[in-house]
Amino acid sequence: MTILDIRLIPDPVLRKKAEKVEGPSDEIITILDDMAETMYNAPGIGLAANQVGVLKRLIVIDCSTEEEEPNLLKMINPEIITSTNEKSELEEGCLSIPEHKSNVVRPSKVEVSYMNLNGETEKLTAEGLLSACLQHEIDHLNGILFIDHISRLKRDMIIRKVKKQLRENEK
Ligand SMILES: [Zn+2]
Repeated sequence: MTILDIRLIPDPVLRKKAEKVEGPSDEIITILDDMAETMYNAPGIGLAANQVGVLKRLIVIDCSTEEEEPNLLKMINPEIITSTNEKSELEEGCLSIPEHKSNVVRPSKVEVSYMNLNGETEKLTAEGLLSACLQHEIDHLNGILFIDHISRLKRDMIIRKVKKQLRENEK
């Protein structure tokens, strides 16, 4: 397995829409394995293919706490099929926007359909952190970042700070 480079804003690949995948080919399974290793290495709780420069609809998630057993989800073509009107607010961060966090309001509960590694369609209902994480990662596949859900003022401030950090890192 390989640890992949994580793309940071303002990399344009983060703003592109990823394409549907036909099924779990060897290539797709390898990408998902590498994405999982990259996520754990970061460390993070979710990663979308756009974030490693691959425009395919693939995400990996593990929202388990340190006391819990790992619960790695590898999803092909994940899609939100229902979401509640009730909203929840949770603090989010993103491996593509390092060192910045913000509260984000999203539907509390979602039902997601996706293809598993056997090519079968599965459904998952989630709430709490897993719900927010699924919505965050599926957003990535549509070129949407968590900072798009917060005030413009705060978004512009974060983008400015990340660009400044990147410039300083290049020196
Ligand atoms: Zn993210």
